[in-house]
Amino acid sequence: SVLERIKQVEDKVKSYITITEQEALENAKKIDEKIAKGEDVGMLYGLPIALKDNLCTNGIKTTCASKILYNFVPPYDATVVKKLKENNMTLLGKLNMDEFAMGSSTENSAFHTTRNPWDLERVPGGSSGGSAAAVAADEAFFTLGSDTGGSIRQPASLCGVVGMKPTYGRVSRFGLVAFASSLDQIGPLTKDVEDCALAMNIICGHDPYDATSAPVDVPDFTKALVNDVKGLKIGVPREYMEKGINDEVKKAVEKALELLKSLGADYEEFSIPIVEYALPTYYIIASSEASSNLARYDGIKYGYRTQNYEDLIDLYKKTRSEGFGPEVKRRIMLGTYALSAGYYDAYYKKGLQVRTLIKQAFDEAFQKYDVIITPTSPTTAFKIGERISNPLEMYMSDICTVPVNIAGLPAISIPCGFDSNGLPIGLQIIGKAFDEETILRVAYTYE
Ligand code: GLN
Repeated sequence: SVLERIKQVEDKVKSYITITEQEALENAKKIDEKIAKGEDVGMLYGLPIALKDNLCTNGIKTTCASKILYNFVPPYDATVVKKLKENNMTLLGKLNMDEFAMGSSTENSAFHTTRNPWDLERVPGGSSGGSAAAVAADEAFFTLGSDTGGSIRQPASLCGVVGMKPTYGRVSRFGLVAFASSLDQIGPLTKDVEDCALAMNIICGHDPYDATSAPVDVPDFTKALVNDVKGLKIGVPREYMEKGINDEVKKAVEKALELLKSLGADYEEFSIPIVEYALPTYYIIASSEASSNLARYDGIKYGYRTQNYEDLIDLYKKTRSEGFGPEVKRRIMLGTYALSAGYYDAYYKKGLQVRTLIKQAFDEAFQKYDVIITPTSPTTAFKIGERISNPLEMYMSDICTVPVNIAGLPAISIPCGFDSNGLPIGLQIIGKAFDEETILRVAYTYE
């Protein structure tokens, strides 16, 4: 029935890059047989799921929505994919995204732009725009995305679904094509908070293949789904409710806070002035790491290779000039500059220092509060084409989400109402490191 649904709406929404219809049907049949024989079919029982196209899938194209990887077929599964398979998912396909996860609208895909199911003239957010739109349009039961500076939460917010970025280290990044390794995390996009907890149960956990994955126990996240926020202290950073935040978004967040208060939680405003520097810090660090990570696409080992070239250097140059899109090139240039001798101290090192200060400011706030609540995105879904020619305006879409990645914290976006155009608004709940449970508890009670 999900494949039928895809046939009905995919022409309009365009969430997918690759649809694995044949494999999905064969797999579903195999799982049916297992069920008939009374065999264990794991937690997913054949549920149809789809993945952002930067998660490596054995034998299935993984393009990162880039021309440079247009034909790349990984010889292995990402750890999260392996875990989903062990639990008997049915993989429906691979989802559209901004090229190499760089962007906030999915307009940076080398293949096509995904549309927001609530209004096809508008963007679904990004970079996991395909992952969010597919859930919103019922083209998958749930999806996985990746979040380096907001790429799960911002599209979840713009498409009216639930999206969680787990604590850095909670989920293995093995097999996630790297954008900015110290910020990237994989997480679920789901229809509700309970599905989010269930998906987290499957994908979390230490992995020897990822040196940055944390050797901490994974709780049963569904145990956190209790309808109770009594006594919880919520901090609301003033800086996230001020300039640049749309009035209707602000009102919806204030209403949500009042609701949580009526249920027994307490909230107060506080100030975290250092977040003013979060966006520049993010774009220095993320671009620096990206410039290093993307050096591997040279046309030699895999992916796109230019047709005509004179020598090796010419091959590199032409392959990369032709293979990468404009936003990826912008990041590579910015990152190369920030890392180069003479500028390293002024930009990259300074960025790392500010990063530490941002993390300390959050640590301090969490001495006082159980969770921090903010809008997820300063605006609701914007029109396709509206911000694409102005990178700075596009970068502002991440103003509320990037501080969380810089500090390595977990956060969720859940729907909290609609604006006057009928577009969904998202509420961001940020928690202490490895305390996704309190986030889920607040989200579940609110929902
Ligand atoms: N929109 C941000 C960027 O372009 C965040 C992307 C992400 O989280 N992958 O870098």
